[in-house]
Amino acid sequence: MDAEHARELIVSERTRLETLIRDRESETGIGSESENASISELASNDQHQGDLGTETFEREKDFSLLEQLEAEINDLDAALRKIDEGTYGRCEVCGKEVDPERLEAMPGTRTCREHAGAR
Ligand SMILES: [Zn+2]
Repeated sequence: MDAEHARELIVSERTRLETLIRDRESETGIGSESENASISELASNDQHQGDLGTETFEREKDFSLLEQLEAEINDLDAALRKIDEGTYGRCEVCGKEVDPERLEAMPGTRTCREHAGAR
């Protein structure tokens, strides 16, 4: 895959993920607790006791989604470094070139289709 094209794919995917994270953070208040403290206090006044468990569950889901998104961003950053080093597009397990279609769909992937999930 052409390095410039790969870089564009990675940068646009990274921007998309960062936007998702920002949206999540402003919705949930994760990452800016103090700013949103007064808002969540107001919100919790309306809540019935029975909703608290659901609220906690939703928050945990948000945290794991954020973790997932941040892990994907880390992969994209690693991919950008690999472009600079000239090793982009190679499977980290077997060292073979990754299918360009796979890179197109998942520009941050570290492995070929065969070794997906092996890392
Ligand atoms: Zn492989």
